[in-house]
Amino acid sequence: MGARTGQQFLEGLRRNPPTLYIDGERVEDATTHPKTRNIARSIAGLYDLQFDPQWRDVLTFEENGERYGTSFLVPRSKDDLRRRGDMHKAWADYSLGFMGRTPDYLNVNLMAAALATDYFNQCEGSGEEGSGRNFGENMRRYYEFVREGDLCLTHALTNPQVNRAKMASEMPDPYIALGVVRETEEGVIVRGARMMATLPIADEILIFPSTVLKENADKSQYAMAFAVPTNAPGVYFQCREPFDQGRDVEDHPLASRFDEQDAFVIFDDVLVPWERVFLLYDVKLANQAYGRTGAVLHMAHQVVCGKIAKTEALLGVAQSIVNTIGSGQFQHVQQKVSEFIVTLEIMKALRVAAEEGAAPNEYGVMTPARGPLDAARNYYPQVYPKLNELIQLLGASGIIMMPTKADREGPLGAQIAKYLQAGNASAEERLKLFRLAWDMTLSSFGARQNLYEKHFFGDPVRMASALYEVYNKEPYVERVQQFLARRSEPQGVAADD
Ligand SMILES: Cc1cc2nc3c(=O)[nH]c(=O)nc-3n(C[C@H](O)[C@H](O)[C@H](O)COP(=O)(O)OP(=O)(O)OC[C@H]3O[C@@H](n4cnc5c(N)ncnc54)[C@H](O)[C@@H]3O)c2cc1C
Repeated sequence: MGARTGQQFLEGLRRNPPTLYIDGERVEDATTHPKTRNIARSIAGLYDLQFDPQWRDVLTFEENGERYGTSFLVPRSKDDLRRRGDMHKAWADYSLGFMGRTPDYLNVNLMAAALATDYFNQCEGSGEEGSGRNFGENMRRYYEFVREGDLCLTHALTNPQVNRAKMASEMPDPYIALGVVRETEEGVIVRGARMMATLPIADEILIFPSTVLKENADKSQYAMAFAVPTNAPGVYFQCREPFDQGRDVEDHPLASRFDEQDAFVIFDDVLVPWERVFLLYDVKLANQAYGRTGAVLHMAHQVVCGKIAKTEALLGVAQSIVNTIGSGQFQHVQQKVSEFIVTLEIMKALRVAAEEGAAPNEYGVMTPARGPLDAARNYYPQVYPKLNELIQLLGASGIIMMPTKADREGPLGAQIAKYLQAGNASAEERLKLFRLAWDMTLSSFGARQNLYEKHFFGDPVRMASALYEVYNKEPYVERVQQFLARRSEPQGVAADD
């Protein structure tokens, strides 16, 4: 089939509704339920963009007479990567960068994993090709299945936060963390839970190896990779309290459209058919899967493009606030806005550096350079809370004194129009802008964004530690050692006294 329309995405959700629970209730139809219908429509809007003549050639590509989403493209050149980066940016712009897990995030994960068939075939237990138990082939076929159907995936990597001092096998119950219970002719039975799956309003859930699996043995029931439909028997998504309160877009400009939801995922003796198993029991292969297949770098590339979109939106809001209340002549205000500019330029430069420094990996996939992407994913979580605070400092009381649309249309409408007007804008325009600033930084939706930016790509402490471990610091140590050992300037170079 190839690229889908929004309508086809919504029909898919109706045909195979994910098993969602919100506020103690089963959501029977995510496309009509008041707490999920708006995000379902927003995702549908992303799919529709693929058919918009303005975006079609950015968001899709043609292969054998069929059009597919550009995030499924296997990049073979730097141009391919740049093209895919433009696709990530265009989808991110749609929500001003406030939807992190748009489907392209996991599509690039699948693409990289599918090309690394040999990696998954190393796993003991991977059967003959054509047997349905060949893990590499399963991975490739699954990617093709998702690409053909233009499906939307969610994923869950981390174990429940019961006791981080203990291994999964040491929990009060061996199946708190998701683990394999037994094998059958049809597949493996899995039981347990995973902590976080953003965007559970999806067709399929991908369980990939947690990169932080700490087990003593080489083989573990907790090491696995597989995928099942979000309505597979025994799969349940317990969603967090929704931020979409059904308010007007004018009142909650982001939460009313882009609450992508986060869910705790329970697997109650779920049968994973063999052809959906990609990796089993091997702790080392599980822990290295993201790095060795290159998937993490393609995902980080999507992230950088998305954060550029988000920073552009924050800069736009910051400067609009300044314009609206006439504070642009104060130097500290200029300095505050310049911090958004610096962040934006750093992120843009890191994207370019990742694309320009790309090289083919061992599976022939043009893979963005690691250094700039590691820098971006360590830098942005630190700077984001600062940007948040700057919006609050620039907007001050304006970000909280914001009568609603109903207030504007109510008995005090005339007074609101008079007292809450801006130097260059009506009260209506001013309030719309400040409500956006509030939803970005201060509402429950905005607060979740702050947490999301700190953690969505992993624990910042362990990410920094991983960077420390892999980064080649030796040439710089060596240079300093040589400098310290140098007792006189090379002949002819020293300046005359
Ligand atoms: C809004 C949001 C959305 C998310 N979406 C997804 C998603 O879609 N899919 C997904 O798979 N994950 C998702 N995540 C989870 C994300 O991957 C994790 O939050 C992140 O990896 C940190 O793990 P944790 O939350 O379990 O924290 P923990 O590991 O429990 O850490 C809690 C605290 O303990 C410290 N700590 C714990 N263990 C160690 C250790 N070994 N060494 C040093 N310090 C340690 C941490 O530094 C931290 O301060 C999301 C998270 C958030 C907040």
